[in-house]
Amino acid sequence: MKILLGPAGSPTDSTLEGVSEVKKLGLQAMEVEFTYGVRMSNTLAKKVGERAITEKIKLSVHAPYWINLNSTDAKKIKQSKQRILASCERAHYMGASPVVFHAAFYGKKAPDETYDVVAEQIRDMQSYIKKKGWDVKLAPETTGKISQFGTLDELIKLAKETKCLLCVDFAHLYARNQGKIDYKKIFDKLCKLKHLKHLHSHFSGIEYGPKGEKNHMIMDSNPPFKPLAREILKRKQNITIICESPVTWQDSMRMKAICQELGYSF
Ligand SMILES: [Zn+2]
Repeated sequence: MKILLGPAGSPTDSTLEGVSEVKKLGLQAMEVEFTYGVRMSNTLAKKVGERAITEKIKLSVHAPYWINLNSTDAKKIKQSKQRILASCERAHYMGASPVVFHAAFYGKKAPDETYDVVAEQIRDMQSYIKKKGWDVKLAPETTGKISQFGTLDELIKLAKETKCLLCVDFAHLYARNQGKIDYKKIFDKLCKLKHLKHLHSHFSGIEYGPKGEKNHMIMDSNPPFKPLAREILKRKQNITIICESPVTWQDSMRMKAICQELGYSF
C-alpha cells in the first residue's frame, strides 16, 4: 500500500521549482492549482512533468473554481467545460491525474435532476478526452456547502455510472455534516467502487456554519487526522492526501509525522 502526501499548490512561486521543493521536504505529491484560470503553457506543463518524473512526485490538478455544470445558462456550462478541459490538456502534458473540480450548484433543480445534468456533461467531457488521447481522469470533489452538488453518495453513484473518479475532501464532508465524520463508513462505501484502486483526497481543518463550509483552516481536530490515518492503515488503502490548509506543506509534514507514529514508513 502507498500513502502519498503533499500540498495543494507549489510551496514556492514556481510550479516547476515547487516539484523539487516538495521532494526536498520529504513529501510525495503535489496538486497543481489552476484556481483562477489555466495560465500554464503546454511547454511548461511538459517541463513540470519531466521534473516530476525525475523527482518521483505524483502530480494532480485542481481546475478553476468558476465551474457550474448545472447552470441554467448554456454559455456558462460551455465555459465550465472549457476550463475543465483546458486543465485536462495541461494535466496530460504534466503526466498529472486526476483533474479535480467542484462540479455544480443545485440552483433551483432537485438533487436528482442535477445529478442527471452533471452525469451527461461528464460523459461528454470523457469522450472529448478520449478523442484527444489525453491520459487523464476526471474527479469531481465532495463539496462543503449544502448548495453544492457533491455529496459522497452522489459522487459514488457518478463514479459507478460514468467510471469517472472522485476526490474525497474529508474536511468538506465534515462541514457538510455539521462536524460529524465517520471514516469507517466512508471507506465502507468507497470500497464498493471496483475501479478505484488509488483514492485521491483532500484534507485540512475547516470552519463551518448551518450552510456548511466557511473557511479552510490549519489542521487541528476539526476534523481529526489521526483516526483517518488509522483507518487507511487498517484497510491498506492506497491514497493521495493533498493538504488544503492555509499552511499546506507544513500540515502535510504533520500528517507525515502522524502516519509514521502509527508505524507507516515513507
Ligand atoms: Zn478540496
